[in-house]
Amino acid sequence: MIENIMTKNWGYQISQTRKINLDEVDLTIAQKILDMEPTFRLCISCGGCTATCTAGSFTDFNIRRVNLMIRRGQLDGLYEQLNHCMLCGKCHLVCPHGVNTRKVILLMKQLLSEYESHRQINKEEKNV
Ligand code: SF4
Ligand code: SF4
Repeated sequence: MIENIMTKNWGYQISQTRKINLDEVDLTIAQKILDMEPTFRLCISCGGCTATCTAGSFTDFNIRRVNLMIRRGQLDGLYEQLNHCMLCGKCHLVCPHGVNTRKVILLMKQLLSEYESHRQINKEEKNV
């Protein structure tokens, strides 16, 4: 039976609506990274880093996505994702805008570790 061309699944789907309430997100980590590594500002989200990423070849780690989430202040789960990074530096070598991605990743890990610790302490204090 010939599949109806109107109902055939072509592998495309309508993207979910995304909106960010800037009053509810935390942009302090993004700002700290920008202060400590100004090249972070030069990222144009081209995806060159993700295309060459060693960790991305073996896991679902996506450094371009992590960069975007940090800049949007959406921090949940990012620390765990960053543990996939091997700090090999290939992303830095290919970046067309010279973003020092390796240093940015190190800063992200440090700042997100502190953020997660504070969040855990706050959670425990609320449960006391
Ligand atoms: S390659 Fe550079 S400019 Fe492109 S997404 Fe990665 S960090 Fe941003
Ligand atoms: S330093 Fe990390 S993010 Fe960059 S290419 Fe290597 S594994 Fe991927």
